[in-house]
Amino acid sequence: MNDLDAQQTYYALGLATPERPPLSGTHTFDAVVVGAGYAGISAATAFVEAGMSVIVLEKATVASGASGRNGGILLLSEGTHLGDAEESSIVDESLGAAADELVRFIEDNGIDADLRRGSIRLAITKRQAAQLAKSAVAGSEQARAGRRYLDREDLKEFLRSDRYEAGLYERDNINLNPHALLEGLAAHAEKLGVVIAEHSRVTGMHAGRDRVTVMTDTGEIHAQRLVVAAGTGSGDVVPSTQKTLFTGYSQIAVTEPIDEAILDAAMPSWYSTSEIASFSRYFRRLPGNRLLFGISTLFETIDGPALEDRIRDELRDTFPTLGDVAFHSAWEGAIASTVEETPLLDRIAPTAVVTSSNGVLASWNGGRIAAAATSPEYAAYDLLRVNRHSNWPPLGAPERLVRKAAQNLFRIKDRL
Ligand SMILES: Cc1cc2nc3c(=O)[nH]c(=O)nc-3n(C[C@H](O)[C@H](O)[C@H](O)COP(=O)(O)OP(=O)(O)OC[C@H]3O[C@@H](n4cnc5c(N)ncnc54)[C@H](O)[C@@H]3O)c2cc1C
Repeated sequence: MNDLDAQQTYYALGLATPERPPLSGTHTFDAVVVGAGYAGISAATAFVEAGMSVIVLEKATVASGASGRNGGILLLSEGTHLGDAEESSIVDESLGAAADELVRFIEDNGIDADLRRGSIRLAITKRQAAQLAKSAVAGSEQARAGRRYLDREDLKEFLRSDRYEAGLYERDNINLNPHALLEGLAAHAEKLGVVIAEHSRVTGMHAGRDRVTVMTDTGEIHAQRLVVAAGTGSGDVVPSTQKTLFTGYSQIAVTEPIDEAILDAAMPSWYSTSEIASFSRYFRRLPGNRLLFGISTLFETIDGPALEDRIRDELRDTFPTLGDVAFHSAWEGAIASTVEETPLLDRIAPTAVVTSSNGVLASWNGGRIAAAATSPEYAAYDLLRVNRHSNWPPLGAPERLVRKAAQNLFRIKDRL
């Protein structure tokens, strides 16, 4: 497997990041958070805003996980895919509120995160096109107002690839540099008093009735509240999550600057795009006539030079004229997901909660909800003990076999 921490991303290069020393010795805080991704920084901010002292323990650096290496395409309308109208609009509204908050933060604090709005979801089959046409008229009035179904002909105004049957334009979705934004949010949290210890991998913990102890190789934290937001590392910190969370993979390349006329002829629009297939591709323009091109292998990790080759094959298949462009950087990222792709929010002790979600906005929301849920008042309701997620791997079957079977199943589904 790749050493993901060692891969440099386009986002990280040139980004000023402070030195944050590792944990040293034994300390007491009101709250401790494991992981400095969107979920962890969000939880820590919620704790400090509630007047508590809080420390974040991060095994590598802020944004070194999925939060700093994703496509930066923040979708506000995940609920549309849920079917149930009421549940859909609750999800869309909560993601919309998180998006508004992050946009306000960027504007108020002058964060250079290359923020742009608008995206297109793409269909590669007629069945998917019908699904998008249905989504165009689903959800709340406000959501519908920002959407437009694009047929093959309409799409040409925004991107020129024979691969696509149709698209769904969504006005409110956000595109940005996710690493720059998270660094800004972390710096803001620190200004409020949050302590972030980097290079501090949590190696063990004990969560009792109303006290927790969290250990690293160089220190120990005693606290009342705990949020574990360790992404794909959550299974190591809280072994019980291993039965519901699985790790999926996605890969991204950013090109060197492309001749403007050639790029305009392939991808004239700044709207981001993402296919709705399981093994999806996503791409968007970056400043300086660069293209970010992502693929999703879901169950497969790709090592070394094969990583660039694989992305290039899919880029060439999407845009034949861009098949030979030079890459500036390419990297892989891992995503912790439940089988249903719905957020995981599990109580592990009366004042300790683990959270994991797929997506930047959902993770930001999840961190805050997890922090609130560590309150003893919430523990009394015990809602989180009801685990609605399916087991992973299902039926106790060997993980390798299940991944293979699921891969084949999704391949067939994508082609239908
Ligand atoms: C390639 C890729 C593309 C994606 N594209 C998009 C996209 O375009 N839009 C979108 O909305 N979402 C996207 N996602 C998903 C999104 O990035 C994640 O869902 C989200 O960032 C998860 O945030 P998190 O804070 O839960 O996890 P993470 O960001 O993974 O944070 C977890 C942190 O915990 C730390 N950690 C792990 N174990 C330990 C330990 N034992 N001790 C201490 N620290 C530990 C890790 O180092 C990490 O920093 C993508 C993901 C990937 C990988």
